[in-house]
Amino acid sequence: MQDLIHKLESTNNLQRSEYKSLLLCDDKYLHERASTTREKIFGNKIYMRGLIEFTNYCKCDCYYCGLRHSNKTVQRYRYTKEQILECCAHGHELGFRTFVLQGGEDSFFTDEILVDIIQSIKTGYPDCAITISLGERSLESLKLLRVAGADRYLLRQETSSANHYSQLHPPNMNLKSRQDCLWNLKSLGFQVGCGFMVGTPGQTLDHIVDDFLFIKELDPAMVGIGPFIPHSETPFAGEKRGNLALTLNIVAILRLMKPNLLLPSTTALGNIHPKGREMGVLAGANVVMPNLSSPETQGKYQLYDNKSHIGDKPAQFRDRIAKQMAAIGCEVVVSRGDYAE
Ligand code: SAM
Ligand code: SF4
Repeated sequence: MQDLIHKLESTNNLQRSEYKSLLLCDDKYLHERASTTREKIFGNKIYMRGLIEFTNYCKCDCYYCGLRHSNKTVQRYRYTKEQILECCAHGHELGFRTFVLQGGEDSFFTDEILVDIIQSIKTGYPDCAITISLGERSLESLKLLRVAGADRYLLRQETSSANHYSQLHPPNMNLKSRQDCLWNLKSLGFQVGCGFMVGTPGQTLDHIVDDFLFIKELDPAMVGIGPFIPHSETPFAGEKRGNLALTLNIVAILRLMKPNLLLPSTTALGNIHPKGREMGVLAGANVVMPNLSSPETQGKYQLYDNKSHIGDKPAQFRDRIAKQMAAIGCEVVVSRGDYAE
């Protein structure tokens, strides 16, 4: 296995069968090399992003997600501009220099409303980066958000197989329009984040290799990888959650494939194992995203069952993650943490 790991390190590329062997390997050396690569590029610094879950309304019906439109048990909420700005003010005091505005595909947030919010954040906090994560939007809409000052956009492709995509989404959603949106984001100069869940129903190792090949082609700044975790009020309620070891191997392979990538150690990873976040960093991840949302709404933003630390204040989130990182010799830093080619 070490030969394969060295080959990936030196060429950033493998054959399909070689990727599949690495995905299944239980050699700690893979994580060690990924962690060493992270240290070579970023030292012991871990970038921190403040997540603002500002709307849980969603017009989509993704089969895996607790916020899906058909889940009538969700108490829906959306923040006002003032509430979003309050989260930013508090986050800025706590040292955050990136705000991630995330939510469902909520038609209330028109281009005009979002442009106003983005411009207000940029005026109040010119030293901060803004990341948007609101699902698919048209090229025209994305252009307006970019011009208003949005720096980054997160949109996971979820899978790179059209057939698998159709097993995860209703017929009105398709892989082509998701991928087109990712290419549009790149053409507009956004730092783009893509990614996928690990262990979604029907996912095979070949699908994961297809995702690696898509990521190579897209060349994103960031890739979000987290285990799929079932939600009781979705069609996937009875499905198994994603596997921890496989998730960590994917993080490690991505670090060796693309050494300068921004790779979050995701909340979902922290959710399936008490030391999941630390394990993610030790497998090569270099970004954490504490929650800046109001403790009152955190319980209403449940993508999957048993979301942890609901009701924690932003300072508690930040302190807990900073401690977890310190325990493995890493330091969360106050910086925008932009992608460097
Ligand atoms: N609505 C936007 C979108 O879909 O891109 C942004 C918010 S959405 C909740 C963010 C991500 O959550 C999705 O891309 C998906 O990968 C992840 N997610 C949704 N349901 C999940 C689940 N049951 N387990 C793990 N991750 C999940
Ligand atoms: Fe909506 Fe995003 Fe959940 Fe799909 S994953 S239902 S788009 S919030």
